[in-house]
Amino acid sequence: MKVGFIGLGAMGYPMALNLRKARLLTAVYNRTHSKAEALAGETGCVAACAIPDMAAQCDTFVLCVSADQDVLAITDTLAGCLHPGTLVMDCSTVSADTARKAAGHLAQHAIAFLDCPVSGGTEGAKNGTLAIMCGGEEKVFERAQPALNALGKRSVLLGPVGAGQATKAVNQIAVAGIAQAVTEALAFAEAQSLPLDRVIEVVGSGAAASWFLSHRGPSMVRGQYPLGFKVALHKKDLEICQRMAGVRGVRLPVVEMTLLHYQRLLEGGHGDEDISSLFRLKHALFTPSA
Ligand code: NAP
Repeated sequence: MKVGFIGLGAMGYPMALNLRKARLLTAVYNRTHSKAEALAGETGCVAACAIPDMAAQCDTFVLCVSADQDVLAITDTLAGCLHPGTLVMDCSTVSADTARKAAGHLAQHAIAFLDCPVSGGTEGAKNGTLAIMCGGEEKVFERAQPALNALGKRSVLLGPVGAGQATKAVNQIAVAGIAQAVTEALAFAEAQSLPLDRVIEVVGSGAAASWFLSHRGPSMVRGQYPLGFKVALHKKDLEICQRMAGVRGVRLPVVEMTLLHYQRLLEGGHGDEDISSLFRLKHALFTPSA
Protein backbone atom coordinates (compact mmCIF):
# COMPACT_ATOMS: atom_id res chain seq x y z
CA MET A 1 0.00 0.00 0.00
CA LYS A 2 1.35 3.43 -0.99
CA VAL A 3 -0.75 6.11 0.70
CA GLY A 4 -1.23 9.71 -0.36
CA PHE A 5 -2.68 11.66 2.58
CA ILE A 6 -4.82 14.78 2.05
CA GLY A 7 -5.63 17.20 4.93
CA LEU A 8 -2.97 17.66 7.60
CA GLY A 9 -4.97 19.32 10.38
CA ALA A 10 -5.25 18.52 14.10
CA MET A 11 -6.32 14.96 13.19
CA GLY A 12 -4.73 14.39 9.81
CA TYR A 13 -1.15 15.33 10.73
CA PRO A 14 -0.74 12.72 13.50
CA MET A 15 -2.72 10.16 11.46
CA ALA A 16 -0.30 10.63 8.56
CA LEU A 17 2.61 10.16 11.01
CA ASN A 18 1.14 6.82 12.11
CA LEU A 19 0.83 5.69 8.50
CA ARG A 20 4.47 6.63 8.02
CA LYS A 21 5.44 4.59 11.11
CA ALA A 22 3.68 1.63 9.51
CA ARG A 23 5.71 2.30 6.31
CA LEU A 24 2.56 2.99 4.32
CA LEU A 25 2.85 6.73 3.64
CA THR A 26 4.33 7.94 0.35
CA ALA A 27 3.12 11.53 -0.17
CA VAL A 28 1.05 14.24 1.51
CA TYR A 29 -0.96 17.24 0.35
CA ASN A 30 -2.49 20.08 2.34
CA ARG A 31 -4.24 23.25 1.19
CA THR A 32 -1.73 25.30 3.19
CA HIS A 33 1.49 23.85 1.77
CA SER A 34 3.69 24.67 4.78
CA LYS A 35 2.02 21.84 6.78
CA ALA A 36 2.88 19.33 4.04
CA GLU A 37 6.46 20.61 3.99
CA ALA A 38 6.69 20.27 7.79
CA LEU A 39 5.51 16.64 7.66
CA ALA A 40 7.83 15.86 4.74
CA GLY A 41 10.70 17.41 6.73
CA GLU A 42 9.84 15.23 9.71
CA THR A 43 9.39 11.94 7.81
CA GLY A 44 11.09 12.13 4.42
CA CYS A 45 7.85 11.59 2.46
CA VAL A 46 6.94 13.72 -0.57
CA ALA A 47 5.14 17.06 -0.04
CA ALA A 48 2.93 17.41 -3.13
CA CYS A 49 2.08 20.90 -4.38
CA ALA A 50 -1.13 19.62 -6.02
CA ILE A 51 -3.31 16.50 -5.66
CA PRO A 52 -2.69 15.21 -9.24
CA ASP A 53 1.07 15.19 -8.51
CA MET A 54 0.47 12.20 -6.17
CA ALA A 55 -1.59 10.15 -8.64
CA ALA A 56 1.33 8.28 -10.20
CA GLN A 57 3.01 7.45 -6.87
CA CYS A 58 0.09 6.28 -4.71
CA ASP A 59 -2.46 3.44 -4.89
CA THR A 60 -4.49 4.57 -1.86
CA PHE A 61 -5.65 8.03 -0.75
CA VAL A 62 -6.71 8.90 2.79
CA LEU A 63 -8.66 12.15 3.26
CA CYS A 64 -9.13 13.99 6.54
CA VAL A 65 -10.45 17.45 5.62
CA SER A 66 -13.02 19.76 7.20
CA ALA A 67 -16.48 19.51 5.69
CA ASP A 68 -18.81 18.15 2.99
CA GLN A 69 -17.88 20.66 0.27
CA ASP A 70 -14.16 19.92 0.80
CA VAL A 71 -14.66 16.16 0.39
CA LEU A 72 -16.74 16.69 -2.75
CA ALA A 73 -14.20 19.11 -4.26
CA ILE A 74 -11.29 16.75 -3.54
CA THR A 75 -13.02 13.59 -4.78
CA ASP A 76 -13.91 15.55 -7.93
CA THR A 77 -10.20 16.24 -8.46
CA LEU A 78 -9.29 12.62 -7.62
CA ALA A 79 -11.87 11.28 -10.08
CA GLY A 80 -10.15 13.27 -12.81
CA CYS A 81 -6.60 12.10 -12.13
CA LEU A 82 -6.44 8.66 -10.42
CA HIS A 83 -5.87 5.31 -12.13
CA PRO A 84 -8.77 2.84 -12.14
CA GLY A 85 -8.43 0.48 -9.19
CA THR A 86 -7.15 3.14 -6.77
CA LEU A 87 -8.72 3.17 -3.28
CA VAL A 88 -10.01 6.38 -1.65
CA MET A 89 -10.70 6.35 2.13
CA ASP A 90 -12.45 9.36 3.66
CA CYS A 91 -11.86 9.86 7.41
CA SER A 92 -13.51 13.33 7.51
CA THR A 93 -16.87 13.70 9.26
CA VAL A 94 -19.48 14.53 6.61
CA SER A 95 -23.04 13.46 5.81
CA ALA A 96 -23.92 9.97 4.60
CA ASP A 97 -25.27 11.62 1.42
CA THR A 98 -21.90 13.22 0.71
CA ALA A 99 -20.20 9.82 1.12
CA ARG A 100 -22.65 8.28 -1.37
CA LYS A 101 -22.17 11.19 -3.84
CA ALA A 102 -18.36 10.95 -3.63
CA ALA A 103 -18.44 7.14 -4.01
CA GLY A 104 -20.81 7.34 -6.98
CA HIS A 105 -18.61 9.83 -8.79
CA LEU A 106 -15.42 7.83 -8.15
CA ALA A 107 -17.12 4.56 -9.18
CA GLN A 108 -17.68 6.02 -12.65
CA HIS A 109 -13.87 5.97 -12.95
CA ALA A 110 -13.53 2.47 -11.37
CA ILE A 111 -12.07 3.99 -8.17
CA ALA A 112 -13.05 2.24 -4.89
CA PHE A 113 -14.33 4.22 -1.89
CA LEU A 114 -14.68 3.60 1.85
CA ASP A 115 -16.20 6.14 4.23
CA CYS A 116 -14.32 5.71 7.48
CA PRO A 117 -14.92 8.60 9.92
CA VAL A 118 -13.08 8.34 13.21
CA SER A 119 -13.70 8.91 16.90
CA GLY A 120 -11.16 9.34 19.69
CA GLY A 121 -10.03 12.95 19.28
CA THR A 122 -6.53 14.24 18.73
CA GLU A 123 -5.23 11.90 21.47
CA GLY A 124 -6.59 8.88 19.56
CA ALA A 125 -5.13 10.25 16.31
CA LYS A 126 -1.68 10.63 17.92
CA ASN A 127 -1.72 7.25 19.65
CA GLY A 128 -3.18 5.33 16.69
CA THR A 129 -6.12 4.25 18.86
CA LEU A 130 -9.05 5.72 16.93
CA ALA A 131 -12.38 3.94 16.64
CA ILE A 132 -13.15 3.79 12.90
CA MET A 133 -16.69 3.46 11.51
CA CYS A 134 -16.68 2.11 7.97
CA GLY A 135 -19.15 2.02 5.11
CA GLY A 136 -18.47 0.24 1.85
CA GLU A 137 -18.09 -3.15 0.21
CA GLU A 138 -16.57 -5.98 2.26
CA LYS A 139 -13.71 -6.43 -0.22
CA VAL A 140 -12.87 -2.70 -0.07
CA PHE A 141 -12.91 -2.86 3.75
CA GLU A 142 -10.53 -5.84 3.62
CA ARG A 143 -8.22 -4.01 1.23
CA ALA A 144 -8.13 -0.97 3.54
CA GLN A 145 -7.04 -3.04 6.58
CA PRO A 146 -3.32 -2.08 6.62
CA ALA A 147 -4.18 1.64 6.80
CA LEU A 148 -7.09 1.12 9.22
CA ASN A 149 -4.82 -0.91 11.53
CA ALA A 150 -2.19 1.82 11.51
CA LEU A 151 -4.74 4.50 12.40
CA GLY A 152 -7.03 2.83 14.93
CA LYS A 153 -7.54 0.23 17.58
CA ARG A 154 -10.92 -0.87 16.21
CA SER A 155 -12.47 -0.65 12.73
CA VAL A 156 -15.97 -1.95 12.11
CA LEU A 157 -17.80 -2.31 8.78
CA LEU A 158 -21.39 -1.15 9.33
CA GLY A 159 -22.93 -1.54 5.88
CA PRO A 160 -22.70 0.00 2.39
CA VAL A 161 -21.14 3.41 1.65
CA GLY A 162 -22.69 6.02 3.99
CA ALA A 163 -23.12 3.60 6.92
CA GLY A 164 -19.84 4.78 8.46
CA GLN A 165 -20.97 8.42 8.37
CA ALA A 166 -24.44 7.52 9.70
CA THR A 167 -22.73 5.77 12.64
CA LYS A 168 -20.51 8.79 13.22
CA ALA A 169 -23.71 10.87 13.48
CA VAL A 170 -24.89 8.44 16.18
CA ASN A 171 -21.57 8.98 17.96
CA GLN A 172 -21.84 12.77 17.77
CA ILE A 173 -25.35 12.80 19.26
CA ALA A 174 -24.07 10.68 22.16
CA VAL A 175 -21.04 12.99 22.60
CA ALA A 176 -23.39 16.01 22.78
CA GLY A 177 -25.53 14.34 25.45
CA ILE A 178 -22.50 13.39 27.54
CA ALA A 179 -21.02 16.90 27.24
CA GLN A 180 -24.35 18.44 28.26
CA ALA A 181 -24.73 16.13 31.26
CA VAL A 182 -21.15 16.36 32.55
CA THR A 183 -20.79 20.15 32.23
CA GLU A 184 -24.17 20.70 33.90
CA ALA A 185 -23.42 18.22 36.70
CA LEU A 186 -20.04 19.81 37.46
CA ALA A 187 -21.46 23.36 37.46
CA PHE A 188 -24.06 22.08 39.94
CA ALA A 189 -21.29 20.47 42.04
CA GLU A 190 -19.42 23.78 42.04
CA ALA A 191 -22.54 25.62 43.22
CA GLN A 192 -22.82 23.11 46.10
CA SER A 193 -19.27 24.12 47.14
CA LEU A 194 -18.09 20.52 46.79
CA PRO A 195 -14.40 19.57 46.36
CA LEU A 196 -14.49 19.20 42.59
CA ASP A 197 -11.46 16.96 42.01
CA ARG A 198 -12.79 14.49 44.56
CA VAL A 199 -16.29 14.68 43.03
CA ILE A 200 -14.79 13.83 39.63
CA GLU A 201 -12.83 10.95 41.16
CA VAL A 202 -15.77 9.31 42.90
CA VAL A 203 -18.49 10.06 40.33
CA GLY A 204 -16.08 8.93 37.62
CA SER A 205 -15.79 5.54 39.35
CA GLY A 206 -19.54 4.84 39.39
CA ALA A 207 -22.45 4.64 37.00
CA ALA A 208 -21.80 8.16 35.62
CA ALA A 209 -18.22 7.33 34.59
CA SER A 210 -17.22 8.62 31.15
CA TRP A 211 -14.10 9.52 29.20
CA PHE A 212 -15.30 13.14 29.02
CA LEU A 213 -15.79 13.40 32.80
CA SER A 214 -12.39 11.96 33.72
CA HIS A 215 -10.35 13.62 30.91
CA ARG A 216 -12.05 17.00 30.55
CA GLY A 217 -13.64 17.43 34.00
CA PRO A 218 -10.46 18.44 35.89
CA SER A 219 -9.57 21.19 33.39
CA MET A 220 -13.09 22.57 32.86
CA VAL A 221 -13.65 23.18 36.59
CA ARG A 222 -10.47 25.32 36.50
CA GLY A 223 -11.87 27.36 33.60
CA GLN A 224 -9.46 25.72 31.13
CA TYR A 225 -10.59 24.10 27.90
CA PRO A 226 -7.49 22.55 26.26
CA LEU A 227 -8.21 21.58 22.68
CA GLY A 228 -9.30 18.10 21.83
CA PHE A 229 -12.43 18.77 19.82
CA LYS A 230 -13.44 22.25 18.66
CA VAL A 231 -16.93 23.64 19.33
CA ALA A 232 -17.15 24.77 15.68
CA LEU A 233 -16.43 21.25 14.38
CA HIS A 234 -18.93 19.54 16.68
CA LYS A 235 -21.49 22.17 15.66
CA LYS A 236 -20.87 21.24 12.02
CA ASP A 237 -21.39 17.55 12.92
CA LEU A 238 -24.60 18.24 14.86
CA GLU A 239 -25.95 20.20 11.89
CA ILE A 240 -25.44 17.01 9.86
CA CYS A 241 -27.39 15.07 12.55
CA GLN A 242 -30.09 17.76 12.52
CA ARG A 243 -30.49 17.42 8.73
CA MET A 244 -30.54 13.61 8.89
CA ALA A 245 -33.22 13.61 11.63
CA GLY A 246 -35.08 16.39 9.78
CA VAL A 247 -35.52 14.11 6.75
CA ARG A 248 -37.70 11.96 9.05
CA GLY A 249 -39.54 15.03 10.40
CA VAL A 250 -37.85 14.76 13.80
CA ARG A 251 -36.12 17.42 15.92
CA LEU A 252 -33.85 15.74 18.47
CA PRO A 253 -33.83 17.59 21.84
CA VAL A 254 -30.13 17.04 22.66
CA VAL A 255 -29.08 18.07 19.16
CA GLU A 256 -31.28 21.21 19.10
CA MET A 257 -30.24 22.35 22.60
CA THR A 258 -26.54 21.77 21.98
CA LEU A 259 -26.66 23.65 18.66
CA LEU A 260 -28.25 26.60 20.46
CA HIS A 261 -25.54 26.51 23.12
CA TYR A 262 -22.73 26.21 20.56
CA GLN A 263 -24.17 29.21 18.70
CA ARG A 264 -23.89 31.22 21.94
CA LEU A 265 -20.30 30.06 22.43
CA LEU A 266 -19.46 31.04 18.84
CA GLU A 267 -21.01 34.48 19.37
CA GLY A 268 -18.87 34.83 22.52
CA GLY A 269 -15.73 34.09 20.49
CA HIS A 270 -15.27 30.53 21.86
CA GLY A 271 -15.78 28.54 18.64
CA ASP A 272 -12.15 27.38 18.56
CA GLU A 273 -12.21 26.11 22.15
CA ASP A 274 -12.73 22.50 23.19
CA ILE A 275 -16.36 21.43 23.59
CA SER A 276 -15.81 21.29 27.37
CA SER A 277 -16.23 25.10 27.22
CA LEU A 278 -19.95 24.30 27.37
CA PHE A 279 -19.13 24.51 31.09
CA ARG A 280 -18.99 28.32 30.64
CA LEU A 281 -22.75 28.41 29.99
CA LYS A 282 -23.61 25.99 32.80
CA HIS A 283 -21.43 27.90 35.27
CA ALA A 284 -23.17 31.14 34.23
CA LEU A 285 -26.56 29.64 35.17
CA PHE A 286 -25.45 29.79 38.80
CA THR A 287 -23.67 33.14 38.47
CA PRO A 288 -25.89 35.12 36.07
CA SER A 289 -23.96 38.36 36.47
CA ALA A 290 -20.59 36.72 35.62
P1 NAP B 1 -8.64 20.90 11.08
O1 NAP B 1 -7.58 20.94 12.11
O2 NAP B 1 -9.44 22.10 10.78
O3 NAP B 1 -7.91 20.38 9.73
C1 NAP B 1 -8.52 20.29 8.48
C2 NAP B 1 -7.40 20.15 7.46
O4 NAP B 1 -7.96 19.89 6.17
C3 NAP B 1 -6.56 21.42 7.35
O5 NAP B 1 -5.20 21.04 7.31
C4 NAP B 1 -7.03 22.03 6.04
O6 NAP B 1 -6.04 22.77 5.35
C5 NAP B 1 -7.38 20.80 5.24
N1 NAP B 1 -8.41 21.12 4.23
C6 NAP B 1 -9.67 21.55 4.49
N2 NAP B 1 -10.34 21.73 3.35
C7 NAP B 1 -9.48 21.39 2.36
C8 NAP B 1 -9.60 21.37 0.95
N3 NAP B 1 -10.73 21.74 0.33
N4 NAP B 1 -8.51 20.98 0.25
C9 NAP B 1 -7.38 20.60 0.88
N5 NAP B 1 -7.20 20.60 2.21
C10 NAP B 1 -8.24 21.00 2.93
O7 NAP B 1 -9.70 19.74 11.38
P2 NAP B 1 -9.46 18.37 12.17
O8 NAP B 1 -9.73 18.57 13.60
O9 NAP B 1 -8.18 17.76 11.71
O10 NAP B 1 -10.70 17.54 11.59
C11 NAP B 1 -10.69 16.98 10.30
C12 NAP B 1 -11.95 16.15 10.12
O11 NAP B 1 -11.99 15.11 11.12
C13 NAP B 1 -13.25 16.96 10.29
O12 NAP B 1 -14.23 16.51 9.39
C14 NAP B 1 -13.63 16.69 11.74
O13 NAP B 1 -15.03 16.84 11.96
C15 NAP B 1 -13.18 15.25 11.91
N6 NAP B 1 -12.86 14.86 13.30
C16 NAP B 1 -12.20 15.71 14.15
C17 NAP B 1 -11.91 15.30 15.44
C18 NAP B 1 -11.16 16.18 16.42
O14 NAP B 1 -11.13 15.85 17.62
N7 NAP B 1 -10.55 17.29 15.99
C19 NAP B 1 -12.28 14.03 15.87
C20 NAP B 1 -12.92 13.18 15.00
C21 NAP B 1 -13.20 13.61 13.70
P3 NAP B 1 -5.54 24.21 5.86
O15 NAP B 1 -4.27 23.92 6.61
O16 NAP B 1 -5.31 25.00 4.64
O17 NAP B 1 -6.64 24.79 6.72
